[in-house]
Amino acid sequence: TVEKIWLDHYPEEVPHSIEYDERCLHDYLKISAEKYSTNTALHFLGKDMTFTELYEQAKQFANQLQTLGVKKGDRVAIMLANCPQGVISYYGALMVGAVVVQTNPLYVERELEHQLVDSGAKVIICLDLVFPRVEKVRSKTKLEHVIVTSIKDYLPFPKNLLYPFVQKKNTGIKVDIEYNNKTIAFKPFLKAGKATEVHVDMDPVSDLALLQYTGGTTGPAKGVMLTHQNLVVNTLQCIHWTYKVTPGEERGLAVLPFFHVYGMTVSMNLGIMNGHTTVILPKFDPKDVLKTIEKQKITLFPGAPTMYVALINDPSIKEHNLSSIKACLSGAAPLPLEVQQKFEKLTGGKLVEGYGLTETSPVAISTPIWGKRKTGSVGIPWPDTEAAVLSAETGEPAEIGEVGEIAIRGPQVMKGYWNRPEETAKVFKEDWFLTGDMGYMDEEGYFFIVDRKKDMIIAGGFNIYPREIEEVLYEHEAIQEAVVIGVPDEYRGETVKAFVVLKEGKNLTEKELDEYCRKNLAAFKVPRLYEYRQELPKTLVGKILRRVLVEEEKQKQVPK
Ligand code: AMP
Repeated sequence: TVEKIWLDHYPEEVPHSIEYDERCLHDYLKISAEKYSTNTALHFLGKDMTFTELYEQAKQFANQLQTLGVKKGDRVAIMLANCPQGVISYYGALMVGAVVVQTNPLYVERELEHQLVDSGAKVIICLDLVFPRVEKVRSKTKLEHVIVTSIKDYLPFPKNLLYPFVQKKNTGIKVDIEYNNKTIAFKPFLKAGKATEVHVDMDPVSDLALLQYTGGTTGPAKGVMLTHQNLVVNTLQCIHWTYKVTPGEERGLAVLPFFHVYGMTVSMNLGIMNGHTTVILPKFDPKDVLKTIEKQKITLFPGAPTMYVALINDPSIKEHNLSSIKACLSGAAPLPLEVQQKFEKLTGGKLVEGYGLTETSPVAISTPIWGKRKTGSVGIPWPDTEAAVLSAETGEPAEIGEVGEIAIRGPQVMKGYWNRPEETAKVFKEDWFLTGDMGYMDEEGYFFIVDRKKDMIIAGGFNIYPREIEEVLYEHEAIQEAVVIGVPDEYRGETVKAFVVLKEGKNLTEKELDEYCRKNLAAFKVPRLYEYRQELPKTLVGKILRRVLVEEEKQKQVPK
């Protein structure tokens, strides 16, 4: 048993426990369409779609999927950049009881094939631009139908240059597609569908809504099984946590990709369940985001640390009125304190941190938005969620302040990994999910993530957590981004290497940087190697791809 000492520090407005109706995720689209029928549900490329329109189109899509023979439990893959078609297909697929498999549009053939084969997807909805890749792997998969859409399906958009990147992208690229029964054009397919309600017997608690692929650094990517209840609960927890959020009235910015569980929950599903407008941007570009926040009067903007870093460092930020911002949730990676403070000063809104994993739908712990915050802490567990720190030695709950592995228990925790009972067994200790992240809890129940178990560097017998060094680097006024890894070392086993990106127009010699680190870190933590870069490799959610750098370093060690 774990004492929930964090409950004493809950903001008064946030309940310790929430009542959840036993409903499927798509039932909430129906409810919002009834309550907020004429509200704009989606805004994309200058065009609005109301909740009624979105609900009608999702039903049309669902009916059409049924004509293709899609049944409850079948897997339907979606490989799209953020666009309304993604929301329509997602909710349409859920209505027929299908399990959605979100696919990253940047996947190369090998990754795509693995995901399609592993999930056994029967249908995929993809962007015309990625169709050639789908076509290449199709024969090796169980795909029966490929539904192709284009960003252009939602033209025309205003020619006011607000979206120059889309205009550029849409010129000159032509993909030849021969449409037939196996390869279907999205728009006419959707239009031909009946908008009648589809009835499928569902159990929200046990039926899957999603297979969300994760991992892949240590082996093939695994499908995380998330139920309707997992997703509904996490969105409701989010709504309660951000209690100043008014149903039907907010304006959320969706620039985090919907194919990542974080963008899917805190931006797409949040907008649908809360009945507010989601302004969709298919790509992160700091200037575009700043313009959109001002023009669309965005109140909620979930993002990743690297996005906020890019925004506060963009010289044009001063030209924009960003005062509509109410609350921003940063997740997926640690948020440097300096970035948070600067962003809050520039917008007047709150920027807090959330922590979680694909396996927890994703949010489990977060900083109270209008409550007590602590430097470096990811906050306290969400309603109905428990977190514990397990001692590395005993596996039992650790002492307050002692670093151990973080474990989570709550209604947002996954059912397991798809077709991988052994992998599932490894990450559960009874009903506690073992996160693989190292951290500690303080005397008030606030959690601190020290690092990922596997990112820990062991140099000369010392345990070194990269995050601590990264924090110090981010505090330097000349540094824009930094990442620290362990590289093989003959004497110390591993040694610390830092990659840094300097802010535009700033200078910092290696000697100065080294002196700065020596002043701020214990000697054993000071990087022995530095490398300056123009940019760092990142995922589409903006997470720095540490493993790419680790791989590059390993390659250098291989004798030629
Ligand atoms: P994913 O399943 O791709 O969402 O990745 C989950 C991992 O992201 C976690 O295991 C953490 O290592 C990391 N992570 C997520 N949020 C945070 C945060 N606020 N601070 C530090 N690490 C985080």
